[in-house]
Amino acid sequence: MQELTHYIGGEHVKGTSGRFADVFNPATGEVQAKVPLANADEMAKAVEIAAKAQPAWAAVNPQRRARVMMAFVGLLNRDMDKLAEALSREHGKTLPDAKGDVIRGLEVVEYCIGAPQLLKGEFTDSAGPGIDMYSMKQPLGVTAGITPFNFPAMIPMWMFAPAIACGNAFILKPSERDPSVPLMLAELMEEAGLPKGILQVVNGDKEAVDAILYDDTIQSVGFVGSTPIAEYIYGTGCAQGKRVQCFGGAKNHMIIMPDADMDQAADALVGAGYGAAGERCMAISVAVAVGDETADRLLEKLVPKVEALKVGPYTSGNDVDYGPVVTAAAKANIERLVQTGIDQGAKLVVDGRNFNLQGYEDGFFVGPHLFDNVTKDMDIYQKEIFGPVLSMMRAQNYEEAIGLAMDHEYGNGTAIYTRDGDTARDFANRINIGMVGVNVPIPVPLAYHTFGGWKKSMFGDLNQHGPDAFKFYTRTKTITSRWPSGIKEGGEFSIPLME
Ligand code: NAD
Repeated sequence: MQELTHYIGGEHVKGTSGRFADVFNPATGEVQAKVPLANADEMAKAVEIAAKAQPAWAAVNPQRRARVMMAFVGLLNRDMDKLAEALSREHGKTLPDAKGDVIRGLEVVEYCIGAPQLLKGEFTDSAGPGIDMYSMKQPLGVTAGITPFNFPAMIPMWMFAPAIACGNAFILKPSERDPSVPLMLAELMEEAGLPKGILQVVNGDKEAVDAILYDDTIQSVGFVGSTPIAEYIYGTGCAQGKRVQCFGGAKNHMIIMPDADMDQAADALVGAGYGAAGERCMAISVAVAVGDETADRLLEKLVPKVEALKVGPYTSGNDVDYGPVVTAAAKANIERLVQTGIDQGAKLVVDGRNFNLQGYEDGFFVGPHLFDNVTKDMDIYQKEIFGPVLSMMRAQNYEEAIGLAMDHEYGNGTAIYTRDGDTARDFANRINIGMVGVNVPIPVPLAYHTFGGWKKSMFGDLNQHGPDAFKFYTRTKTITSRWPSGIKEGGEFSIPLME
């Protein structure tokens, strides 16, 4: 049994708390490793090392910090296959999808190569008589991030790349379900030239998270995961005076108008609903067809595609559309919710129950499910299922369809399929959701834009990556400066005016 470690001070360090979690191979159901769960003392050690290392890193000029990012991009590309294999083995997603996970993180690292430009301050010459005024963006110091299981490469990189490019030290507390890739990323950052102690990985669960939240040295906390934990971390972190951004769960609606291209809409739904076994915060989990005729035409195209989905282990290569879900508990939760859908009167059009894969009977596989006639009061509509289950709803008109998406408590992503520019424009303007696709099912913004939902999908004000990340990981200092020869008057007792 492999015993994983923490990565503290540039070394692989064994856990000392005596607590461990099992890391599964979701395709076989076997425990393949155990990961240490840190206690507060282990977290404090990492924080101490980070605090010592950070000032020297902040003093390295931004161009040199950017060169570390450049070298890191090269190493990610060099080790792409290795990273993807390790990722698939612990997460279960297919190899091409695992590479996508690494690449969408790599793209943010590439953006961070622009740190010298992005960190430039502002300067006003002669803001008053002999007075110059300028601002600079300084790092926060020691920062931390807590990440979910579903993107073990991408989301850590979304956090640590901008944090480190800005001159901070970063402590990553990855998901205990798939910790190997985060550990590999920390090693690669050091190979790229990052000094020891600037990026550390401390594995753990709630105990490690609480140690982060109550540590006085840690200045900021980034979180991505489920909404109840996001709310807890946001509330607790803010109460401790930290800068906090938390990204939570989702229930993403795709609206299909009668004039949509039904082949495109069906292809979009099958990819966005079932890709990565539905374990994406930007997965489409609700298809809202406008009009019964639209719903019927769509189902005609969609059902055969869902029935033809190939489910299997990542080792089957490109022959598989999606893999197992992450744990037996996740599988049981999905099955329980499917049963509530049946009990509450939804029509199960494609029944993925009792899915069985020869040779992988103990794997956490879930067959594809498609429900029709889903209504607002059902659990399968209200709750995030995070599995290969797509719910179809029938709205009588556009207003009813947009209303469904607007009234839902989550507001991460949404999409509309239509050929009508007016409808698409109205939808993009009115919808109260952070990321919107027009004939694009999973509208994840690219690295140089920002990623973030609204409503219960996001707590905080600055989004992930893009220019917002450089704001989140720096604080502004504004200097008003006058040299002695510029001082013309004696003491002033009313507020100075630059007249
Ligand atoms: P999760 O909330 O269970 O875990 C996320 C992190 O929180 C992990 O590091 C975990 O160790 C930690 N954690 C778990 N329980 C905790 C507790 N009681 N106290 C403190 N920390 C705790 O989420 P998950 O299952 O790993 O990921 C799936 C969820 O993440 C889904 O809800 C999905 O929508 C969401 N997600 C959101 C985004 C986004 O950008 N909005 C992106 C990816 C995933």
